[in-house]
Order: sequence, then structure tokens, then C-alpha cells
Amino acid sequence: MAVNMDDQAGLASYAARAANSRGRRLPEPAPDYRSEYQRDRDRIVHSSAFRRLEYKTQVFVNHEGDMFRTRLTHSIEVAQIGRAVARVLRLNEDLVEAIALAHDLGHTPFGHAGQDALNHCMKDYGGFEHNLQSLRVVDKLEERYAEFNGLNLTYETREGILKHCSLKNAAAMGELGERFLRKQQPGLEAQLANLADEIAYNNHDVDDGLRAGLITLDQLDGIRLFSEQHECVAATHPGIGTRRLVHEVVRRMINRQVRDLVETSRERIGESGVTSLEEVRARSVPLIGFSAAMTEWNLELKQFLRAQLYRHYRVKRMSNKADRIMKALFSAFLEDLQVLPPEYQQKAARSEQAAGVAGRARVVADYIAGMTDRYAIGEYERLFDPARLT
Ligand code: MG
Repeated sequence: MAVNMDDQAGLASYAARAANSRGRRLPEPAPDYRSEYQRDRDRIVHSSAFRRLEYKTQVFVNHEGDMFRTRLTHSIEVAQIGRAVARVLRLNEDLVEAIALAHDLGHTPFGHAGQDALNHCMKDYGGFEHNLQSLRVVDKLEERYAEFNGLNLTYETREGILKHCSLKNAAAMGELGERFLRKQQPGLEAQLANLADEIAYNNHDVDDGLRAGLITLDQLDGIRLFSEQHECVAATHPGIGTRRLVHEVVRRMINRQVRDLVETSRERIGESGVTSLEEVRARSVPLIGFSAAMTEWNLELKQFLRAQLYRHYRVKRMSNKADRIMKALFSAFLEDLQVLPPEYQQKAARSEQAAGVAGRARVVADYIAGMTDRYAIGEYERLFDPARLT
């Protein structure tokens, strides 16, 4: 006999509950054996956009080495951090996990450089925002279910995926855009997934940056979040090997940030007196957050990474190349739909009929955004390398 599983026991009054969900756009019977948010998570894990995260990157290009994070391992790290904090704060772990695993689904190939390039290409056609694209993937682009396009996820998961949104786009989004216009907050699970993302990428960029030799321990010793833990590990374990040292420092940094996040958020939730998800949503500022001191330390680390890692000449060479590839692909496809795979030609033609050249451009952007790093490089070679005529 099928047993419908509700959420985990002991949720706080202000946590999201599947039973109180605002539901799916297309109503469906409740799942057997799982909660609604577990079903969301499972649909995300089985999506093709999720599998492609394995070959997409944030800072480094995928083929640079097998040791670096990809968007897939990053998303799993975000889910891990998010779930750990959710459990302590008695928030809905399944929902945090679903949001974390979906949050990067709309990312282009080649990380930030790819996203900036596509946004530039789309500037006359409504622009390109990766958060909006993640939502587009789960709402429209996945073609897996007989009865609907997209994954038909719950409102709360979709709310969490749409982390940022320009006011112009928010105005056109109906219910999901309202909070941006009213300057209100999403549920605590969405707030948490957002900060778990920040903890995960700052720390893994330190780890990957060191491994790639783009930044050094000496440089990082000027960053308080790092030096505090570095001193501690060096004092407790003199003579420890560098790889182990780095891992030990990074894991302690994550731990330090998670602890700060738990304590600060717990305090703020207590002081706010919120007792329901609706009260959380009605607030003008988030309740999940870091202390003032940790916010400052995080900012220091972010500024360091921006200056020393993201603008490193080796990263710049790669991102310039990515920029050229993305722009060349976009123009080639937009100018002549016949070089698109037939399925996309048809979609672009239909979309052009409905929305003019902006509609055609949107399908080209969807096609390019869905590519992995190596697929984009392959498409570039197939289109522009004179030595390749197939
Ligand atoms: Mg992320």
C-alpha cells in the first residue's frame, strides 16, 4: 500500500511544510512514499540539465583538470551545507536540498565569463540572467514528462531558485516576482540555500585556486578568515604536508562560517518572533545570515578572490577565449537558423512567430546556455575550424 510521506518530524513553525505548499502550477496527485519537496529534488536529479552540471565550471574550464570542482560537485556541496544547517534550525531539509541542487541549472558554459557574454549578446532581446534561466529550465525547457513542459516543481522550490531578479523581469513574472517588487523575502530554506552557496564557492575557490597555483598560502595569510585557521592548524600539526594543510584549513573555514550562520540566524529568528512562513516572507530583511564580523571577513575573502583569482591573467585568458566562443556561436546561430540542430530550428521559428527576433534570440540563448564547456568548444570548432568539415 502506498504511504504518503509528509515532511520530517520536528519542523519549526516557520519552516516550509509540504502540506501547506502553494503547490505546483499544474496540480498533480500527491506522491507515494515521498514528500512533495523530495519529489522536487528527485525530478531535479533526474533532469538532463542536472547531469550537464558535471561538465560545467565556475572559474576553471572543465577540461583543465579532474581535481577541480564542477557545478555538479559544487551543487552537492551547497546541498550538504544547506541540509546540515537546516536540520539544526529545524527547517525543511528536503526543500533546501531541492533548491541547492537546482540553483545552478541555468548556468551557461564557462562560468561567469560565459554568462556575461550571453547577457551581452542578449542585451537587445531582454538580456540573460542565470537565475531566471535556472527557473526557465525547470519551468519550460526540460522535456521529460508526458503532461507538461519543465519539471512542474512546487512554488517553494521555484521561489528559492529565483534568488535574484531585475525589477523589470519581476514585474512580468506574476506571483513569483511579487516579492522583488514588494522588497520582501523568500522562505528561510531559500535564504539558507543562498548562503550555503556563498560558503561553498568562496571556500572551494580558495582550495581550487591554491591547487591550480593561481594563489598562494602567503597571499591568503593576509585574509583573516584564512589566517585564523592556518595559524591554528600549523600550531597543532607542525610539519603537516601542504595538501593536507590546505584541506584542514578550508574545512575549518567552512565549519567556522557554518557555526556563525547557525548562531546568528537562530538569534535573529528568535528576536524576530516569527511563527509562520508567511511572517518570514513579509519581512523586509532576511533572517538567515552571518554576524557583522563574519560578513566583513567574508567580504575581505571575496575581494581577495576577485582581485587575485578571478582577474589572474591565466583565468583572464581563459575567460576571454570563452567570451569569444560564446559571442561567435550566438551570432552564427542568430544569423542563420539553418546551422542549428533541426529541433532548435523549429523551436526558434515558432518562437520568432510569437515574439519576433527576440523570440528567435531567446531560443538561441537557451541552446547555448544548455551547452557544457566541451560541447560549446566542439560546436565552435564544427562551425569555424576550416579543417573540420563535418
Ligand atoms: Mg552556486
